[in-house]
Amino acid sequence: MSYDDNNVFARILRGELPCRKVYEDDHALAFHDINPLAPVHVLVIPKGRYVDMSDFTENASDAEIAGFFRAVGRTAERLGLKEGGYRVLSNCGRDANQEVPHLHVHIFGGANLGPMLRRRDG
Ligand code: AMP
Repeated sequence: MSYDDNNVFARILRGELPCRKVYEDDHALAFHDINPLAPVHVLVIPKGRYVDMSDFTENASDAEIAGFFRAVGRTAERLGLKEGGYRVLSNCGRDANQEVPHLHVHIFGGANLGPMLRRRDG
């Protein structure tokens, strides 16, 4: 899948759409999800043009990959989630129902988050 420069997170990165910023550095931007699914729900996105986790891990430089994951940890720390814990999740592609085609990880926290996924029968 080629990168769509008009996706909503590309527009946030360009400053064309607002966001509630939590953290920013050379490699990443973190901001509150517009439709939170937990008391704390923040998205962390790399600044480069990567569609999803597969694209990122295949094509990003070592510096981009290290910088991005360091930013995830720093964002969790800034949110005060280190002590109580948190969940990091990234939807990649069709079966994960990824909605926005710019790599992002979700950080959830602020309460016990329950089981990781609903258990399936069979
Ligand atoms: P995913 O299904 O993993 O692609 O998740 C996309 C997430 O982006 C959803 O949780 C949306 O609520 C969130 N989202 C969509 N548009 C915005 C926006 N303008 N600002 C913040 N979060 C957004």
